[in-house]
Order: sequence, then structure tokens, then C-alpha cells
Amino acid sequence: MKGLVFLGDRKLELREYPDPTPGPGEVVLEIKASGMCGSDLKFYRVTGGAASLGLGGKGGPVIAGHEPCGVVAAIGPGVSHEQARVGMRVMQHHYRGCGVCPHCTTGWMQLCVEGVAEVYGVTGNGAHARFMKCPARTLVPLPDELSFDAGAAISCGTGTAWGALQRLGLSGEHSIAVFGQGPVGLSATLLAAELGARVIALDTSDERLARAKEFGAAHLINPKNTNDVVGAIKELTHGRGAHLSLDASSSPVARQQAVRCLRTWGKACYVGEGDSVTLDVSNDLLRRQITVIGSWTFSTVGQAECACYVADRGIDIDRLFTHRWKLEQAEEAYRLFDRQTDGKGVIHPS
Ligand SMILES: [Zn+2]
Ligand SMILES: [Zn+2]
Repeated sequence: MKGLVFLGDRKLELREYPDPTPGPGEVVLEIKASGMCGSDLKFYRVTGGAASLGLGGKGGPVIAGHEPCGVVAAIGPGVSHEQARVGMRVMQHHYRGCGVCPHCTTGWMQLCVEGVAEVYGVTGNGAHARFMKCPARTLVPLPDELSFDAGAAISCGTGTAWGALQRLGLSGEHSIAVFGQGPVGLSATLLAAELGARVIALDTSDERLARAKEFGAAHLINPKNTNDVVGAIKELTHGRGAHLSLDASSSPVARQQAVRCLRTWGKACYVGEGDSVTLDVSNDLLRRQITVIGSWTFSTVGQAECACYVADRGIDIDRLFTHRWKLEQAEEAYRLFDRQTDGKGVIHPS
């Protein structure tokens, strides 16, 4: 089979790999949809491999793609009928841990006390290929109502937005400022609006803001067009500031604004990877009783809950995708994604 590999510095390559066979406790998936996540741009652009992003790994290039969704194609020894059956429609939780520590056994393999052994698509072979091998315990059932594309989105970008909104305790009475309207931020806009919250969407791309409006944002702010983003958010919230904020942009300035735009007792959540932020602890945080949360994706349980929520409410996740690609078109797909003005892309390897 062919697998797509990021070489760093915006270079990628289709390489030939043997079709994987499952070992004990493992399955092989036939990948039907492999989403392109915002964080893939980091791996696409970085020089020095995923190891330079602090996710471990042996440093060698691996098959990219960490939003896997497909059907079970082969089952290794020791996998029970309940865990996996050939033909079962599944998403995959894209981390491998030790499997026995308190975090792994509650579905948070990325928090494994031994350190995350593999992040599929980053430090272990991922889903930008026809087949992918993984432990059966990393599978999450895909509800019948959802397409493979929707499952791919939930496997990282949309699931990450869901996890962050859960951590923030968002409800319909809240206003929330969402910084960055890429795949994660736009999912947050969609889910928060569906939950009844009033969403203030921010992005430096007018195209992305237009999409945020279609996805339920009540207000749009392009930071390029205002020199007072915090003031603009306060103006929309009776001068008090938003109840909640979420930064999916990774921009140090946006992260600062995500804290400063909050009302007293407000909560900010950071989900964008990399880079840093500078805060004035007294004025920004403690004198206003502000809570700042970091949120790293979701557990297997959270992933299943997100999928059920989306299915039960009939939320059209598929329209997050503006581009559907074959594996052979990956170079064009990532070149376009790199501009950060379009919607989400998904690769259909089989
Ligand atoms: Zn563990
Ligand atoms: Zn991701």
C-alpha cells in the first residue's frame, strides 16, 4: 500500500509500505476517511520531525493522518467479539499508552503515566494510507447515522472542540469568544451554537469568518480590522466581557485577548498547540477570578459521547469539509490547507 509521509519543511512523499497484519490485541482498519487536522500543519511545516514538537517517537518519518475512520478489515489473536468484528464501522482514538495505568484504563491513553507510546499519524503510522494497524482498545464505534467523514472529524478536530466545551462547562446562557476558525475553532462555533450559546467568532481570514456565520456564530470579528479586539468583545457583552473563551489559533496575542476579553469569574481554554503566552498574573488573572484551562483532545469515552451527541441532534458535521481528496492528491491538498483560508480537507484512501 502507499502511505503519505511528511518530510518537514512543507515537503511530503507517497511511500510504499507492506500491508499491515494485526498482532495480538490488534486490528487492521481499512481507512475510508482520514481527516486533515489543524495540528497537521505543524507536522507538515516543522523541520526536525515530530520529536521537535515534544511528542516523543523515534524521529523517523511515519505515515501521517491522525483522524482515522473506517471499517475493521482484520483481527489479531486475543481480540474479543465485543471489541471488534470484521466490517465494524469505527473511529480510532489516535494514541497508544501502556494500557494498564489509571489514565489508559479510563480512556485517556495520551496521558499515560509511562508517556504516550505512540501518537498515530505523528510518531506512529497513521491513517493517510489504505490500511492502518492499531490496538483494538483504541477503537470507538461509529454510530450508523454518521458518515466516515464525520467520524474522521470527531477523531480529532471536532472531538477536541467538544472536549474543550465540556471542560469549560458551556451552556446555552453563555457567551463564548472563539479565537481561530480553522477545523477546531469552527467545530467549537458549530457545537456551541447548537448548545444555544452566543458565539463571537474571530479569525484573520474573512472567508473563514463567513463560514463561521453559516455555522451559527452571532458576531464576527476580524482582528485585522480593529485595534481593540478586547473592546469589541466587551461592546457585544454589555461592557462586561464574554463568559467563556476558547483559543484554537495558537497565537500569543490571541491567547492574551482570550483572557482579557472575559468577564470577572470567566474561563478561558487553550487548545491550539505550540508557541506561548505572556499574562500579567495580578491584573489578568487573580484580581478577576479568571480560570485558564489547557485541554488536550478527549478520551475514548468523550469521543463516543461526542459522536452520539452529533448523531442524536442531527448536526451536519460533513459540511465542515470543503475539500475531499484522493491520496495521490495529498500534495495539492496540504498546499491549499497551508493557506489557512479554506475549510477542512479529508483524504479518502480507499
Ligand atoms: Zn498508561
Ligand atoms: Zn488533531
